[in-house]
Amino acid sequence: MIGAKSGPWMAHGKDEEKGLATVVSLGSLGNATALSCRECGEQFPIGPRYACELCFGPLEVAYDYPDVDRASIEAGPRSIWRYRALLPVPTDVVDTPNLEPGFTKLVRADNLARELGMRRLWVKDDTGNPTHSFKDRVVAVALAAARALGFRVLACPSTGNLANAVAAAAARAGIRSVVFIPADLEQQKIVTTAVYGGTVIAVDGNYDDVNRLATEIAGEEDDWAFVNVNVRPYYAEGSKTLGYEIAEQLGWRLPEQVVIPIASGSQLTKVDKAFTELGKLGLVDATPYRVFGAQAEGCSPVAQAFKAGVDVVRPVRPNTIAKSLAIGNPADGPYVLDVCRRTGGVVEAVSDEEIVDSMRLLARTEGIFGETAGGVTVGVLRKLLANGQLDPDAETVVLNTGDGLKTLDAVADVVAPSVTIPPSIDAFRAATEEIFARG
Ligand SMILES: *Cc1c(COP(=O)(O)O)cnc(C)c1O
Ligand SMILES: [Zn+2]
Repeated sequence: MIGAKSGPWMAHGKDEEKGLATVVSLGSLGNATALSCRECGEQFPIGPRYACELCFGPLEVAYDYPDVDRASIEAGPRSIWRYRALLPVPTDVVDTPNLEPGFTKLVRADNLARELGMRRLWVKDDTGNPTHSFKDRVVAVALAAARALGFRVLACPSTGNLANAVAAAAARAGIRSVVFIPADLEQQKIVTTAVYGGTVIAVDGNYDDVNRLATEIAGEEDDWAFVNVNVRPYYAEGSKTLGYEIAEQLGWRLPEQVVIPIASGSQLTKVDKAFTELGKLGLVDATPYRVFGAQAEGCSPVAQAFKAGVDVVRPVRPNTIAKSLAIGNPADGPYVLDVCRRTGGVVEAVSDEEIVDSMRLLARTEGIFGETAGGVTVGVLRKLLANGQLDPDAETVVLNTGDGLKTLDAVADVVAPSVTIPPSIDAFRAATEEIFARG
């Protein structure tokens, strides 16, 4: 058994022998062969690095793609690990003590489709993950890679859901976690992180301040894996599993349109990477698809750049209830613009009021209580339909990436008991006569 008391995780902090492995043998992260610069294409060996030594561009995992067929994937575990041949993780990753995220439901959303005048609509509902957001996917991959690379502590700057996922995965793996959050985060997200017992550091500042601090600390603490900073190339690959699952759950087909929320923009670019890989590997027909990006108006730097027709994403100061998406300086913003423009999609934003309305719409029509980020994607779906930029007849998948129970404040003021009555049948009849008459 690999557990808390064995392996490179045993010691905390520094000791005689530096924990950080700088030479990693080929194959130790499955079929990943190199880290490739997204800007200049220079390749570097697999290892604990994330920026290009030549141009400081972000690095991305490259693979020697194996022969995988549908049957071998379908025979795998009902989690993201069924796609492990396409992820930068050790081949025996299934035996490591991760919570197993993924294979969440793809819900046929006929009621919502009818309400919106659409024909075929699906909700990819990632509330079914261990800590109720899509972040469990990226953390599981980051943790598996970080173990293989010799890191000893799991850390992150977070807008909330990532903190939940890191604290839970570290607790289960028996290692130390240190998470950094903006001090004004939703109370639910603070509680659902702190309960796992790791170190939670609330920082007076917004996410971009927290991220800057974490990046500085990552430069000094050699054996800390900040999942979305210094092991970001591995972390980011975890988002591909959303794309793989959507295609497999549609019966090995690509949807025609997909609506994806944008925080740093990583998820959106990786769903596109997944669809492209599946086509190249012959696992699906490489049919065209359009990728739509969704932001909150109070933090919409990518949507603004899209509208202005420019490639540069100008940082903003976030002010929105969609805190999980409140990254004012999104690292993958320019790549999101590339994907949406190349596939014929759009990046759009909705107001906080529309976010709340759309959270209620999804709940009322499909029985799915999504968090504010779900309100953002459903809101953008609705807006793009209204202005004719999204085809109501094309098969569409909208992502619900987090759970409404973690953002209760967003709807707490607008929903309440229908009526309060004394405990008598007469009062019940009198009060409900009118309510039920309304239907
Ligand atoms: C983090 C997050 C996202 C998107 O993350 P990216 O940084 O764009 O990859 C989407 N939804 C929720 C709920 C999140 O927590
Ligand atoms: Zn480079």
